[in-house]
Amino acid sequence: MGAKQKFIFVTGGVLSGVGKGITAASIGAILQAKGSTVSIQKCDPYLNVDAGLLNPKEHGECFVTKDGAETDLDLGHYERFLDIELTQKNATLSGRLLSQLIADERAGKFHGETVQLVPHLTGAIKDSIQEAANGSDVHIVEVGGTVGDYEGLSFIEAIRDFSTRVGRENCFYVHVVYVPFIQTSKEFKSKPAQNALNELRGFGIVPDCVVVRTEEPAPHGIAAKIARFSGVPEDAVILLPNAHTVYEVPLTVSASGIGTVLERFTGNTRTPDLTKWRRLVEAQEAIYKKSVRVGMVAKYMDNEDTYISVIEALKAAAWQEKVQLDLEWLNAEEVDESDFSRMDALVVPGGFGERGVDGKIRAAQYALEHDTPYLGLCLGLQAAVIAAARRAGLEGAHSTEFNPITPHDVVYIMAGQAGKESTGGTLRLGDYPAILKANSLAARTYGEEEVVERHRHRYEVNQRFADDVKKGGLAISGTSPDGKLVEFIEAASHPYFIATQAHPEFKSRPSRPHPLFVGLIKAARQRQ
Ligand code: GLN
Repeated sequence: MGAKQKFIFVTGGVLSGVGKGITAASIGAILQAKGSTVSIQKCDPYLNVDAGLLNPKEHGECFVTKDGAETDLDLGHYERFLDIELTQKNATLSGRLLSQLIADERAGKFHGETVQLVPHLTGAIKDSIQEAANGSDVHIVEVGGTVGDYEGLSFIEAIRDFSTRVGRENCFYVHVVYVPFIQTSKEFKSKPAQNALNELRGFGIVPDCVVVRTEEPAPHGIAAKIARFSGVPEDAVILLPNAHTVYEVPLTVSASGIGTVLERFTGNTRTPDLTKWRRLVEAQEAIYKKSVRVGMVAKYMDNEDTYISVIEALKAAAWQEKVQLDLEWLNAEEVDESDFSRMDALVVPGGFGERGVDGKIRAAQYALEHDTPYLGLCLGLQAAVIAAARRAGLEGAHSTEFNPITPHDVVYIMAGQAGKESTGGTLRLGDYPAILKANSLAARTYGEEEVVERHRHRYEVNQRFADDVKKGGLAISGTSPDGKLVEFIEAASHPYFIATQAHPEFKSRPSRPHPLFVGLIKAARQRQ
């Protein structure tokens, strides 16, 4: 038997949204760089069963795993940082566990026992952690929200008690706190952090490491003060000021001294090979001579998190191609030709609901008619099909999602899916294979003819109109292996017009950008 599996729990105090996910992913990246195998899991205390029906405006993008789990965007950070593919097991929500518990209770599986939050819900949480850990050297668990939140208590109790299951020496608790800087007195204030640590102790967890998030670099005295009041050794209080880019965080965390603390815990004393992260930061900070202006025709305009995987995929492609990315958000509800004409390329990302759809269709039409490089993602494919059908003279052609009585339902619900439109969990989700036409733009861009991409949609292209769509300028270049589902379309004699029913952005990685995004950036660069 090798060394015992280790567990790292990452919780947050003071406020949420200060980079707990990035901290967890960065710790994982450092351990990977030391040769350990790492698995990771997000626990969210919401009563939702998955993230599928959560409003992206509030929660950001819904990330989709290969097995079709609709999850919090932190799983996207994890996949990008650790370059692994996660599954439903890596996303644990209270709602999911509770609905299972209640179903088990109804099925009589508790044989008359009283079913309670402790030990039943906490037990289910502990089991889910053990299951997600799946044989890795180190398993990282991030608990969403802040410690003390009423709804998160079962998770805190479960991770505390987990140490009695596997041994305290195999558990490492990291608490991420925020220390504000008060402009008027020009001081950092550690009191909220001290209170947050007291609160954590009140639940029986004395952390092994405290990560102190600040806007600006804080003096060492802050770490000393927090150490004094929290009973955590001073070298385990890590100051983590804002980074220029998230990909710098593994480097900052590694340089901060956490390495030594983690070495004590894992026993892995190898020096981490952080070359990949250094290269990424260099690529991001380099000033390139050429720049490309990419217009993203978006619906949610005020929160970058809603399209985070698309944005990360575009950035990574630009770094690889050594061009400056000038990304402009075009409000789908207001855009017109003058916006499109300023762009070197257009991206139409996924979306649900009618708002902004017209702008997306106009973007596709403009790109088709003006040789503007275009990448359509999911709804971006459907918008392109609608634009092409209308160009071919199919008046009022639409998706039945937006016009249920359209005379030309070029995008529709296939038999078998009908009637399930408004409920969660009825989408085509997760990995599906596609066969690409030999020599098509899609096949040339991928460099292969069989690809697998993640999906999250309900409507499909209606192949009854394939000839019209072709007349309108777009040909089908990839389908499901049985030919029933349209997966890729593209324009002939166009520099780069390609759209997919899938979400390739989920498989893009910072150091290995997705070929469809690289293709778009290359085409955009050539326009200059
Ligand atoms: N609303 C469309 C559908 O359900 C597209 C979904 C998406 O872009 N993810 O098919």
